[in-house]
Amino acid sequence: MVAGILDEVYAACRDDTSGAPADYIPELAAVAPDSFGLCLATADGLVYRVGDTDVGFTIQSISKPFTYALALADRGLDEVARHIDVEPSGEPFNEIALEPDTQRPSNPMINSGAITAASLIEGPDEFERVRDCYSRFAGRELRVNDAVYQSESRTGYRNRAIGYMLRSVGIIDVDPDAVVDRYFRQCSIEVTCADLAVMAATLADNGVNPATHERALSTALTERVLSVMTTCGMYNAAGDWVTTVGLPAKSGVGGGIIAVLPGQLGISVYSPRLDGQGNSVRGVAACRELSRRLELHFCHVT
Ligand code: GLN
Repeated sequence: MVAGILDEVYAACRDDTSGAPADYIPELAAVAPDSFGLCLATADGLVYRVGDTDVGFTIQSISKPFTYALALADRGLDEVARHIDVEPSGEPFNEIALEPDTQRPSNPMINSGAITAASLIEGPDEFERVRDCYSRFAGRELRVNDAVYQSESRTGYRNRAIGYMLRSVGIIDVDPDAVVDRYFRQCSIEVTCADLAVMAATLADNGVNPATHERALSTALTERVLSVMTTCGMYNAAGDWVTTVGLPAKSGVGGGIIAVLPGQLGISVYSPRLDGQGNSVRGVAACRELSRRLELHFCHVT
C-alpha cells in the first residue's frame, strides 16, 4: 500500500518543472534540473523508494538539524540555548540579523544559528566529528564534495559577514573564519535521497538508526531537534508547511527535503528546482501529497 501511494505521488508531481536550481555557485547550477527521487523509510527499518534515489547531491541546509544535534550533545540544552534561540524568524535563511535584546540568532535552522551551532562543536578535529555524526545518522560514511566546498568557500562572503557579526557580539568566541569554513564543509557533504530517508528515519526512531541499530542521538535531544524543525525548518514558509504538511522538516538549496513523523517514519525528496523561498518545488508538493494520502499531519483528526 505504501509503495503504491509513493508511486502515485511521484507520478502526480513529476510533471511540475517550475522553479530553478540554485545558481549562486556553478556546481549547483550544473545539476540535472529534472532529477526527482522520493523515499520513505520506516522507524522499523523498511525503505521504499521511487526515481533518482541514488543520485548524489549536497546536503546544504539539511545539515543544520544534525550539527545542532551534535552541539546539543556536546554542550547540553542550556548552554546551547544561551547561544541560539528557538523562535521562527520569519526571514530568509541568510538574513543578517540577531535578536535585538539577547543578540542570539533566532534559531539553528537559519544560517546565523547554524554557524553558531558549528562554533559549539568540541574539538579536536571538529569537522571530522560533524562528518562522523552525519554518517551515523545515514548508516554509511558520508564525504565532502570538494568542488562544492571550494565554491562555497570562494563565494561565501555573506556567511563570513554573519560569522564576523556573531563574533563581534560574542555569540561566537572562537575564530569566525574557522567556524564558517566548518559550515561550508558541512553544507558540502554529499548525500543521496536514500541517505536522507535513513537520516530522517533515525530522527523518527528517537535517535537510533533503524538500519544499523546504532544510536546517533539521545531521545531527549531528538525531541528538541524535531521541535525546532517543526517551527523553523522551512524558513519563511514554515507556517504554510505546518498547515499543509504538518511534519517536522528541513530543506536545503541542493534540492533535498526531509520530513519526519516521530515514532513512525522519515520521508526524503530530491528535486533541485527551487521556489522563491529556496525550497524544492516538487519536494514541497510531494510531501504535501504524501501527508494527505497517508494522513501524516500531526493535527490529523480521524
Ligand atoms: N550553503 C548555503 C548557504 O549557506 C546553504 C543554504 C541552504 O541550503 N538554504 O547559503
